[in-house]
Amino acid sequence: MRRVGENRLNELWGRPLVTVVLISVIAVMLWPVLGAASALGTYAALLLALLFHHLRNLSRLHNWLEAASPQSLPDGSGAWEEIFSGLSRLMRRKTQIETRLSATLARFQRAGAALPEGVIVLDEHGRIQWCNPRAENLFGLDIRRDQYQQITTLIRNPQFVEYLEQGSFNEPLTLRISRSDGEVVLSIQLVPYGGSDKLLLSRDITHWDRLETTRRDFVANVSHELRTPLTVLSGFLETLADMRKPDPDMTRRSITLMAEQTARMHHLVEDLLTLSRLESTQNRPHEEAVDVAELIQGLQRDGMALSGGRHRIQVSASNRNGLLGSVDELRSAFGNLVSNAVRYTPEGGTIEIGWTVREDGCPVFFVRDSGIGIEPQHLPRLTERFYRIDRSRSRSTGGTGLGLAIVKHVLSRHQGHLEIQSEVGKGSTFSAVFPPTRSHAVEKSVRDTAPEQAD
Ligand code: ADP
Repeated sequence: MRRVGENRLNELWGRPLVTVVLISVIAVMLWPVLGAASALGTYAALLLALLFHHLRNLSRLHNWLEAASPQSLPDGSGAWEEIFSGLSRLMRRKTQIETRLSATLARFQRAGAALPEGVIVLDEHGRIQWCNPRAENLFGLDIRRDQYQQITTLIRNPQFVEYLEQGSFNEPLTLRISRSDGEVVLSIQLVPYGGSDKLLLSRDITHWDRLETTRRDFVANVSHELRTPLTVLSGFLETLADMRKPDPDMTRRSITLMAEQTARMHHLVEDLLTLSRLESTQNRPHEEAVDVAELIQGLQRDGMALSGGRHRIQVSASNRNGLLGSVDELRSAFGNLVSNAVRYTPEGGTIEIGWTVREDGCPVFFVRDSGIGIEPQHLPRLTERFYRIDRSRSRSTGGTGLGLAIVKHVLSRHQGHLEIQSEVGKGSTFSAVFPPTRSHAVEKSVRDTAPEQAD
C-alpha cells in the first residue's frame, strides 16, 4: 500500500520536473542555433505554457470542488490525470461509506421504533435528541415538535423531575400518569452512556401493577377470612383449657360452635382450591356429554336439603338437549347459583331452576329467585373474588365470597358467560349462557315429561 502511494508521489513530482528539465535542455540546444535571445524567449514561452497548463487544471479543480459533485470530476492530463483519478476514487469510497452508514442508521432507527419499550435519547442538558414512537405514545410527545426541548418542561411530574435530578439511577422509578383513557403505570429508568448522554427507558407496567394489587388484595382477604374463625376457635380453646371442671353444657355448645367455624374454614379452603384449579390455563376442562336435566334433579335435591323446607324449589327443563363440558365443574357452578338463591331468599320464597334454549340457539341454565334482589351498582362487581353486598349476611349463611367467581371461571372455560337480572325486594335471575356449539342431543327420552315441579 505504502509502496503504491510512494510511486504515485514520485510520479506527481517526477513528471513536472522531467518536463521542466526537458524544456531547459531544448533551450540549451537552441542556444547555438538561434542565439541567446531566441533560445531564452523560447524557454520562457514553454515555461509559460507549462504554467498555463497547471493554472487551467487548478481552476478546473477549484470549479469541481465548488460544485462538489463526483459526476463532474474533470479529466486531466499528465500529473493532473493522477490527481483527478485519485480524487475520483476517494469520492466513490466516501459515497459508499455514506450509503452504508445511512443504511445502518436507518436500520437502528427501525429497530428503535419496533422496541416495545419507550426510548428517549437525552443530551447532557436533558434535551430530547431522539425518541421512538412508543415513547411518543407513552408520554404524549411528538418528536417533530419536541426535538431539542428540555424533557422536564414537557413531563412536569414532580416525581419524574426529582428522579432525573437526583443522579443515582440504579433503581427504576414507578410513575403513575393520569390520562383521558385512565391511569397508566410506567416503570422508568435512566441509563447514562457515552460520557454525558442518557437513555430514558420507559415500560408500561399497568397490567402487572393491577395483577400485583389483585394479588395483595387476595392475600389480605384470605387472611381476613381465616382470622375470624381462628380467633373464635382459639377463644373457645382457651376458655376450655382454663376451666378446672368442664361444664358439660358449655363444652357441648363450644364444640358445636368450633365445628361450625372449622366447617367455614374448610369451605373457604375448598373454594380457594377450586378457584386455583379453574384459573390454571394448562388444566383444560374434561369434556363429556352432560345430561343437564339429570344434573338439575340433583341440584334441586341439594337445594331442598339446604333450604330445609323454607322455600318452594321448582324445576323447568324445556331444553331437550344436553351440554358438552365438564360435569364436575358445571355441577359446582350451577350448585353455587342454587345455594345463593336459597341463602338470599327469605323463608316462604320461590326458586326456579331452569334449562332452556334462547331464540339465538344458545343453551341457558338459569336460577330465578324471589329473594332480596341486588342494587344495580353492585351487578358489575359480583363475580369479583370476596365481593359481597352484605358481608354479615353472606357469612351467617355460610358464604365464602367466592361462589360467583367460581361460576364466572367455569363458564368462561366453557366459552359461556353469566347474565344477571335483579330487582331489589323482588328477586334475581342468574343465567349461564353457553354457545350453541356446546349443545348436544341427549339419547334418552326422559325429557318427554313436561316442565317438572317439586316443592
Ligand atoms: P357469597 O359466598 O358471599 O354468597 P358469592 O360470590 O356467591 O359469595 O356472591 C357474591 C355476593 O353476591 C353475595 O355476597 C351476595 O351479596 C350477592 N348475591 C349472590 N347471589 C345472590 C342472590 N341470588 N340474591 C341476592 N344477592 C346475591
